[in-house]
Amino acid sequence: MSLVADRLKKIKPSATLAVSAKARQLKAEGRPIISLTAGEPNFDTPPHIQDAAVHAIRNGDTKYTDVGGTPALKKAVIDKFKRENDLTYTPEQIIVGVGAKHVLFNALLASVNPGDEVIIPAPFWVSYPEMVTVAEGMPVLVECPQSQGFKLTPAQLEKAITKKTKWLILNSPSNPSGAVYTQEELAALAAVLLKHPHVYVMTDDMYEHLRFDGIKYFTIAQVEPKLFDRTLTVNGVSKSYAMTGWRIGFAGGPAELIKAMTLMQGQSTTNACSIAQAAAVEALNGDQMCVEKMRTEYERRRNMMVEKINQAPGLSVTSPPGAFYLYISCEGTLGKTSANGKTIKTEADFVDYLLEDYNVATVPGGAFGLSPFFRVTFAVSDDDINEACKRITEACKALNGKRQAA
Ligand code: PLP
Repeated sequence: MSLVADRLKKIKPSATLAVSAKARQLKAEGRPIISLTAGEPNFDTPPHIQDAAVHAIRNGDTKYTDVGGTPALKKAVIDKFKRENDLTYTPEQIIVGVGAKHVLFNALLASVNPGDEVIIPAPFWVSYPEMVTVAEGMPVLVECPQSQGFKLTPAQLEKAITKKTKWLILNSPSNPSGAVYTQEELAALAAVLLKHPHVYVMTDDMYEHLRFDGIKYFTIAQVEPKLFDRTLTVNGVSKSYAMTGWRIGFAGGPAELIKAMTLMQGQSTTNACSIAQAAAVEALNGDQMCVEKMRTEYERRRNMMVEKINQAPGLSVTSPPGAFYLYISCEGTLGKTSANGKTIKTEADFVDYLLEDYNVATVPGGAFGLSPFFRVTFAVSDDDINEACKRITEACKALNGKRQAA
């Protein structure tokens, strides 16, 4: 009899964490690796937020808190949703967890019955299908090609909905594509959902503040108030405030679901770290200039990287309106051969080639459900962007131009 439970047998390890770990290992072995794999800001947590945590430690905020979050953080979350998203929640409709990943996982575990279907537009954040599978649900993956801006259309949504559909997961700005849904696009999806009252929406708004070119932000419960009672709006401080290690995420949603999630949390993790919660209060309530400063920097780096990548033969990328990733098509490299005689048949071969021959670590698009693409982050230093793009371009130029059958 296997020690490991059957429910884990279908679960894939996080591809992004796996490639990051491989890059770290090769670096430790002395290879001059540049890693473009991580999904986290390369900034320190802003000083005023750090100070709030130090104060919390000195102040004795080191005990268990309410399972679903301290009253102060719940209030800060309620105020944030009101101020930025025009959504009005009560404390019973709010939960704080150990990162948005934990919140999303708990939401699915607390709501999905075996066989329930969860619609996930592809490309998707790697964890959604795996979380649905752990919850014994059925991920329903819907490919959203580059030609439609990597976004789900109302017709695709209508077609994907069945009697078994429990959730639609939306993620805007998207990891990995950076796609951002407009108000009109969300309204059109909402119109479909209104016809199917048994379907709930989980919207992952983690990259809300990381938008470029002045594009406006909307979340679905704000666009269609009739969906408010059927929407779980998930957000957190990891990306916007450079707080990935603090592990604070939160959500607003139906009180019935929040109660079930709190019940689960009460029998598993209990509260998120009391000190990190105090820091998150400062992040949400304090001066927001730090967010804008980092955002401006990402926008500059995005512009720089998009231009460089589009100069590499065989690669093409459109400028993403949000998040801090480029989802790059490597279709033009498929079928070509490297100097070592290796034919690039898939994006995974291309990503391997970059790592093995040019010491640049990236993530193959298969992990995100849409090929032939690979993902890089621009939340790294200018030096890393310049050097990595130089190596990627050299790698592309070194490929034999004669395409062989892929
Ligand atoms: N959602 C998306 C789309 C993400 O990219 C990530 C992190 O990579 C998360 C959620 C999880 O964030 P957290 O650090 O709050 O768990």
